[in-house]
Amino acid sequence: APGAHVPVLVIGTGYGGSVAALRLAQAGVDVHMVEMGMSWDTPGSDGKIFANTTNPDDRSFWLRTRTKQPLSNFLGFPIDRDISRYTGILDAEDFSGITVYQGRGIGGGSLVNGGMAVTPRRQHFGGVLPSVNADEMYDVYYPRANAGLGVTHVDQSWWETTDCYQYARVGRKHAQRSGFPFVFVPNVYDWDYMKQEAAGTVPRSALAGEVLYGNNYGKKSLLQTYLARAKATGRVTISPLHRVTSVAPVTGGGYTVAIDQLDTTGDTTATKTVTADKVFFAAGSVGTSKLLTKLKATGALPKLNSEVGKGWGDNGNVMCGRANHMWDATGKLQSAMPTAGIDNWDAGGAFAEVAPLPTGIETYASFYLSITKNPNRGQFSWNAATGRAELNWQTAWKQPSIDAAKTIFDRINSTEGTIYRTDLFGAYKIWGDHLTYHPLGGAVLNKATDNYGRLHGHPGLYVMDGSLIPGNTSVNPFVTITALAERNIERIVATDL
Ligand code: FAD
Repeated sequence: APGAHVPVLVIGTGYGGSVAALRLAQAGVDVHMVEMGMSWDTPGSDGKIFANTTNPDDRSFWLRTRTKQPLSNFLGFPIDRDISRYTGILDAEDFSGITVYQGRGIGGGSLVNGGMAVTPRRQHFGGVLPSVNADEMYDVYYPRANAGLGVTHVDQSWWETTDCYQYARVGRKHAQRSGFPFVFVPNVYDWDYMKQEAAGTVPRSALAGEVLYGNNYGKKSLLQTYLARAKATGRVTISPLHRVTSVAPVTGGGYTVAIDQLDTTGDTTATKTVTADKVFFAAGSVGTSKLLTKLKATGALPKLNSEVGKGWGDNGNVMCGRANHMWDATGKLQSAMPTAGIDNWDAGGAFAEVAPLPTGIETYASFYLSITKNPNRGQFSWNAATGRAELNWQTAWKQPSIDAAKTIFDRINSTEGTIYRTDLFGAYKIWGDHLTYHPLGGAVLNKATDNYGRLHGHPGLYVMDGSLIPGNTSVNPFVTITALAERNIERIVATDL
């Protein structure tokens, strides 16, 4: 209700926000969560809640009139199509030099992602979060996060024979013939469900190209894990289609939070204010960075320090495909959930996820999303003329990522006598260097905040999401985001309530 008061308001319902909500509620605090995206709980006219990758529709994109698929072309043909403007699930948010893909809806990125749940190798952790005690993370918080997320390994003997991982077995063969370590990585997908999909006894999800625009079955998003437990406490409420636009201190303590209520075309239908004793920013790296940059620049939160908006990175994401020989078919049935990667981090600064290309036809292509050691960092700044937060990233800053990925794929191509695909990102373009799935940083731990996510300058404001991590995690990020949130909220519950 307008003018309402809540003890704790959490902005965003992704990993950081869900961990905070659960742990605060378990400590006896009433929590209200505000989420700009929809509550994905109602089937469309096709009987499904979510669309698949072969047939994206209105549900697939956040407020766009044309799809913006990460792979824009196939066999030389552009594959994007017109859709109607709708508060869909995947935001392809354009900044200068980069498109940042993010999940929109209750569950945040857990709705759209590939479920790859990777803990960084321990010797790399000091480079990821230098101010955090690694022993505590690996003894307590990574195990807690993995348990909370429902992370498990694929049954290897099944993986060795099932049609839907032929693409990954080809990926392994090529990696190993070039001398690269091939590592299995866990996932949050329900493997028993996937086996039944393969056996044809249940409706298909991972085996029906469902990823990017949601999974109808099989994937444990935050809705099945942290958010289910948070709701079961009876202390957590969530408002979907509500977007926080401002947070400002109230004389005498606490904060006023201004919120726009949206309809499904993205128009504001009401503006509300709520007061809260404590506010947790968990709007994701981009969402939190944009909000804090604006609130500092416009004077709403004048005491935020000058680290706000800084230290943003793309986790070194770069994509590419390789054209295989006709005897190395990758299979027309491909599980949309990746299970493995090629680890050349120490020698070449790249960890390449062996990714699916679930088109439904044989493509003879191997497809990879590489996470690389890219040192470039962007910064958000407030443009008062346009009323928007901007990011100063440049496409050329991906060159270190391309160089790192080439340490793997140039060698594999040379061993196999194969070439790069040049048809996936536009004509004659090898590298998908225009995008990231893994935005990180913008409110870096121990810089914009203290070492537990408390924002400097304004007591009672916290950052809980990927914006705490300075630009790179060396692997896919959500397990680290979750584990760091578990660590920080434990301290906050113990000392700040
Ligand atoms: P998010 O999960 O992004 O949650 C932030 C939430 O805040 C969103 O729901 C957003 O709508 C909401 N929000 C933003 N601004 C506001 C506002 N002003 N008011 C109200 N709500 C707001 N990572 C992995 O580890 N493994 C993978 O396999 C993997 N695959 C991916 C595939 C894709 C296509 C994408 C896009 C990402 C993938 N990721 C993967 C990345 C992972 O999903 C993100 O790192 C993670 O979701 C970030 O968590 P977060 O808590 O920081 O924020």
